[in-house]
Amino acid sequence: MPKVPHSNNSVKIPLYEKDSLEDFFYKMLNHISEDSKRAGLVGTPKRAAKAFEFLTAGYELDLETLANGAIFPCESVGMVIVKDTEMYSLCEHHMLPFFGKCHIAYLPDKYILGLSKFARIVDMFSRRLQVQENLTEQIAKAISELIKPKGVCVIMEAQHMCMMMRGIEKQHAITTTISHLGLFDTDKEYIKQFFSLLRRHT
Ligand SMILES: [Zn+2]
Repeated sequence: MPKVPHSNNSVKIPLYEKDSLEDFFYKMLNHISEDSKRAGLVGTPKRAAKAFEFLTAGYELDLETLANGAIFPCESVGMVIVKDTEMYSLCEHHMLPFFGKCHIAYLPDKYILGLSKFARIVDMFSRRLQVQENLTEQIAKAISELIKPKGVCVIMEAQHMCMMMRGIEKQHAITTTISHLGLFDTDKEYIKQFFSLLRRHT
């Protein structure tokens, strides 16, 4: 039998440190009229807290540490595209997931960034409470800050659980956001080229 963390008496033995994340999840279980003592839920506050800490671990990261050692000199000026990077985030309005794909293009100016770092940048900003519009912009600005390219464009396509599971309850709506900096902002030909390359690879 799993250990039951709380006595059945009216006096409850606190299992979690007061105001810890575990404590909040424990209170949440009680608040929704669940039996927090039943076997399936005994470890849930701890697990949920751990999961939530993982999903918001992006606050702890900083760009310089993340990019350390992965900025390389480059002679190419051709467009670099990193397509279909998976993205999982939590909306800051409901703390429900939104998820989808991130497509990044940039025009190098003497420097390139190691390819895996784009996924790390996406994770760094998506593992926070976000709105998709800001997330897209923050990714573009981070790349711009790190390697100072001639231009950056980030396109994100996502589905929002707060639209699917609640509220308007629409299952197929996809939200697309775009952020363009530098030459992608001033010369629309680059965005057209990005779009056509994205389509070609699909
Ligand atoms: Zn929401």
